[in-house]
Amino acid sequence: MSEHVLTAGEHAYYQRQMVLPEWGEAGQLRLKAARVLVVGAGGLGAPVLQYLGAAGVGVIGIADGDFVEVSNLHRQVIHTMEDLDTPKTTSAATRLRRGNPHVEVVEHMVPVTVANAADLISGYDIVADCTDNFATRDLLHATCHALGRTLVSGAAQMTEGTVTTFAAFRGGENPCFRCLYPTPLPPEMTPSCSMVGVAGPVLTVIGGLQAMEVVKEILGIGEGLSGRIVMYDGLSAGFSEIPLARRADCPCCGGSATAQGERAMAQPPVTGG
Ligand SMILES: [Zn+2]
Repeated sequence: MSEHVLTAGEHAYYQRQMVLPEWGEAGQLRLKAARVLVVGAGGLGAPVLQYLGAAGVGVIGIADGDFVEVSNLHRQVIHTMEDLDTPKTTSAATRLRRGNPHVEVVEHMVPVTVANAADLISGYDIVADCTDNFATRDLLHATCHALGRTLVSGAAQMTEGTVTTFAAFRGGENPCFRCLYPTPLPPEMTPSCSMVGVAGPVLTVIGGLQAMEVVKEILGIGEGLSGRIVMYDGLSAGFSEIPLARRADCPCCGGSATAQGERAMAQPPVTGG
């Protein structure tokens, strides 16, 4: 099906968003031509995938090596009891295809590792980081930076969450993940949701923000989140924002392009998603 025209079925499906002046048919065609990789089909991936699928992102990749467990279901609302023990990629892809027949969903049933990250990411325009551990976040960022891909990153734990966008490859004042964390955080500094818990609705807030940022990046509208971190506190129902500046001495984006690429591809192997 052509990326350059919308069918009658697509017009009917997307009419309530195409009526937005910033969106229009031109924006819908941009979405249709876009390829987005969502890494992690869990608590953040659930809203991100469902909204990007419903919005009409032409090709949506889902990368996750895990299977659906009963302890996932309070927050990973893309999966159901019927999906227990099935791959999360299969469960999520089935849900997206049922929701919108106009998009193509690609299942990558693997954890993202240093061995496959570049191959996976090079097939997409934008990556949504919906993972839950520092090592995978670091690897995703390094690979996106080296390949020149925008990374929209969400994180949530307990009753709080954050969203930001990394696009330091564009140059200028755009900061990178290592401007935020010059040295990798040890695992004990980043406990997982299985250890400290997370409130499901917080994930929907953060994932919804992430999906909107991905749409904005594709449409080229609004103000992106590069250089800004939006924070949500579920208990006070408060949003705040902190600026993130580029570091001149950043170990990732502070040096020459060649050195950046070498560093980006020299990350230690990790698993996750
Ligand atoms: Zn940096």
